[in-house]
Amino acid sequence: MQFKDRVALVTGGGRGIGAATARILAEGGAAVAVTDVDPGPAEETAAGIRAVGGRAIALACDVTSQGSVDAAFARAAQEFGRIDILYASAGITRDNLVHKLTEEDWDAVMDTHLKGSFLTAQAAQRYMVAQRYGKIVFTSSTSALGNRGQANYSAVKAGLQGLAKTLAIELGPFNINVNAVAPGFIETRMTRATAERMGVDFEQMKEAAAKSIPLRRVGQPEDVGHVVAFLCSDLASYVSGQVIYIAGGPRA
Ligand code: NDP
Repeated sequence: MQFKDRVALVTGGGRGIGAATARILAEGGAAVAVTDVDPGPAEETAAGIRAVGGRAIALACDVTSQGSVDAAFARAAQEFGRIDILYASAGITRDNLVHKLTEEDWDAVMDTHLKGSFLTAQAAQRYMVAQRYGKIVFTSSTSALGNRGQANYSAVKAGLQGLAKTLAIELGPFNINVNAVAPGFIETRMTRATAERMGVDFEQMKEAAAKSIPLRRVGQPEDVGHVVAFLCSDLASYVSGQVIYIAGGPRA
């Protein structure tokens, strides 16, 4: 029970990597505020945690809105007494080649990933600085290294690495660790939607991707969740400002 008496808030916790990570943190003993823009999926994740004896509540939280973020943190702290862990998983894709990328799709991706991670980290550090304890993990991506058709997404995922390193410097003196995970191909609704958009069969897409991945398989949400849990544990208490790629090999 490495997270006994710890309280975690997960954004985008209704689905995919966020949901898996919420479950893993709860299995480790954390009380988890599962947040998502749509409270329905968040409630499903929270109910699943409670069904196996864990502690979890579901909260609506749109990470692009400061009011929504601050309200979710206040509610989680009211329920569980503190905030020790923030895992920022909320995300969207709006892929297109640069000459077709709209301002709206650029802004939506910037707001959800970069502004959303900034707003949630800013809210989290208010609690964590007062406690002199905290763990923050952002979700970057192998797309940070460049990916055709993802100028907006690649830019935010690279930006999140800078955000993690800078907040590690600013918040380190308050015993707060800030890191980022950078997943490769993980099997979630997001990658399934990409296949649909490209008109490709998802199983065939996974098989093709697996051939170029050294470990010869695509990732599962739990592959990311376990690394996030490690970074949020005291086993990683001297790790801060780092980016861990979780991609079945060294590169995208
Ligand atoms: P999912 O689509 O399964 O989960 C993302 C969740 O974020 C959804 O529940 C979504 O809600 C929610 N969300 C979207 N917009 C907002 C918002 N404004 N406020 C709060 N929540 C929001 O995707 P993944 O689990 O695959 O992705 C999780 C993170 O991992 C993302 O940051 C993604 O960029 C990153 N990532 C994913 C990879 C992959 O291969 N899957 C690879 C590398 C990084 P809704 O469904 O209602 O829109």
